[in-house]
Amino acid sequence: MDPGGLRVNGKRLRNGLELMAEIGATPGGGVQRLTLSPEDKQARGLLVSWLEETGLDVTVDEMGNIFGRRHGKDDNLPPVMAGSHADSQPKGGRFDGILGVMGALEVMRTLVEHHVTTERPVVLVDWTNEEGSRFAPAMMASGVWAGKLERDWAWQRTDANGLVFGEELERIGYKGALPCASWPFHAYYELHIEQGPLLEAEGKTIGVPKGILCLHWYDIYVDGEANQVGPTPMEGRSDALVAAAEMILKVRELPAKMGGNMVATVGEIQNYPNSRNIIPDLVHFTVDIRSWDDELALRSWDDVEADFEAIATRHGCPLRVEERWRVQHNEFAPHLVGQVQATAEALGYSTLPMVSGAGHDASYAAMVGPTAMIFVPSIEGRSHVEVEDTTWEDCEAGANVLLSCVLQSAAER
Ligand SMILES: [Zn+2]
Repeated sequence: MDPGGLRVNGKRLRNGLELMAEIGATPGGGVQRLTLSPEDKQARGLLVSWLEETGLDVTVDEMGNIFGRRHGKDDNLPPVMAGSHADSQPKGGRFDGILGVMGALEVMRTLVEHHVTTERPVVLVDWTNEEGSRFAPAMMASGVWAGKLERDWAWQRTDANGLVFGEELERIGYKGALPCASWPFHAYYELHIEQGPLLEAEGKTIGVPKGILCLHWYDIYVDGEANQVGPTPMEGRSDALVAAAEMILKVRELPAKMGGNMVATVGEIQNYPNSRNIIPDLVHFTVDIRSWDDELALRSWDDVEADFEAIATRHGCPLRVEERWRVQHNEFAPHLVGQVQATAEALGYSTLPMVSGAGHDASYAAMVGPTAMIFVPSIEGRSHVEVEDTTWEDCEAGANVLLSCVLQSAAER
């Protein structure tokens, strides 16, 4: 490690982030750059022009993932990779995803500027559709790249207007020729905002996640009996919304009941027919359970499902449960996690070991090769909103840690 060595150009990094933030800028200070939208296309165009200016070999695969490769002394060695995503949530923030892409570009620009030739090649990556808000699921193209999702199935995903992913990809000109399939890599680093409040609360600069929490998604359907609210006595009602309300409170109480090391959330609900003078006869809601401990998450689900059944019986409201998605907790490569920690400290930044509660493309990368992430503070812990913010100093700090980690890994034979 050489903490006395190269540093990124914080001004240039900021300038690039500000230019990117103009693409899809929203009145509230955020960005809306939905996957394969005109704004996504524009951001890709700008990124590709920068990659070419920097002298990288640019390739686009058949899922639209963009790679910028810089030669090493030995191009036969598996490369070091760094990147993230350029798409955003609707009315999302200016840092989520794009910081990791621009951080990797800043690393490349710094290497070029200082005529550094690394032993291994270094590859920047911009993954398509990390957010999954226009086309579900999230992390779709890194999932295909890692061989965990089917390419043809991904191409057929549709948005809310019935537009097809594969056709939209072609329409914006980013359905590349390169097969979307992983190759061996020596290390993958993803710089990202924390999207939570811990770093700020602890007054630390660099978050060092040991991995990503497991993620269990369920869809719950509660059936009631519709009737006119006036003439129908309270006695004997089968009110699906009241039953669902009790169930939702059980979800809220679950982490405390099960012993803490998890979060449980109901984020989405639909009530039918959703009329003020009809007793609701159908409610759909979602349950999201996350923990480092997969077994705890499963036990918690069993526990809350038993509560759901009892509530459903008491209200005379039959229950239907669908398990939607289940991803195990994902541990990053301990040697790279340790390297991120040691590097940040050697550069003089305070650090905080943590876990990531949010999913990232790094989840799929970690299934292919050694992976680690570098987190920087989110002001007030806010993200996926227009006010999402991170200080320029922290962006620069994160990029410096990324640079130093890339240099170390790319020097290893
Ligand atoms: Zn992200």
